Amino acid sequence: MRKKIIAGNWKMNMTPTAAVELTNTLKPLVANEEVDVVFCVPAIDIIPVVKACEGTNIQVGAENMYFEESGAYTGEISPEMLTDAGVKYVVLGHSERREYFGETNEDVNKKVLKAFEHNITPIMCCGETLDQREQGITMDFIRQQVKVGFLNVTVDQAKTAIIAYEPIWAIGTGKTATADQAEEVCKGIRDCIAEIYDRDTAEQIRIQYGGSVNGKNAAELFAQPDIDGGLVGGASLKEDFGEIVHW
Ligand code: 13P
Repeated sequence: MRKKIIAGNWKMNMTPTAAVELTNTLKPLVANEEVDVVFCVPAIDIIPVVKACEGTNIQVGAENMYFEESGAYTGEISPEMLTDAGVKYVVLGHSERREYFGETNEDVNKKVLKAFEHNITPIMCCGETLDQREQGITMDFIRQQVKVGFLNVTVDQAKTAIIAYEPIWAIGTGKTATADQAEEVCKGIRDCIAEIYDRDTAEQIRIQYGGSVNGKNAAELFAQPDIDGGLVGGASLKEDFGEIVHW
């Protein structure tokens, strides 16, 4: 039985002061040992949020990471900086990074490999545009994202990875994929992992759904056999996140 993982993606929200306040508000609301709870926060919030989460079940993640160890890469953040600050997870290849910052599947693959090298669990995002869905090429597009994203990832590493399926048309729009639509793609992703590796690996990897998840729709989404939790944007900044964690 795969343990569910509910991660908040705070995106570019919350000053360090506000981040600590939000963490303190959410702490009692997200206490649930039966699921993995992760707050993926802006880099500048990591250290104060890790401190505020001491003694709780909450793990802290980053929203991005560079694929080099160190050096002349102005503005980037290295894997060792993250681990030293207490980070356990990193969101990689979010559609906003792909769209606004030009990240390619190859960049995402380098970051995934580097995260594993440093024992940071990648939450690798994939998902189609509305246009791709309407053209009927959703699964072809996502299979390519997953195949390239996992190039040279070992079978043991793959078993511990998280994949987040986030249809772009459902992000921040209030337009959630139906449970059937989300399940269909999450199952397709699991089959793709089985093709790359084997069925056992596919059964162990955890696949989240993301895109307008809230306290009301979480239960139906998380009841699907191939959906192992959620990657939550807007609702992770509110008390609603507590309801999602206790769907
Ligand atoms: P929303 O939950 O705000 O739609 O965002 C989803 C998302 O992009 C999480 O990474």
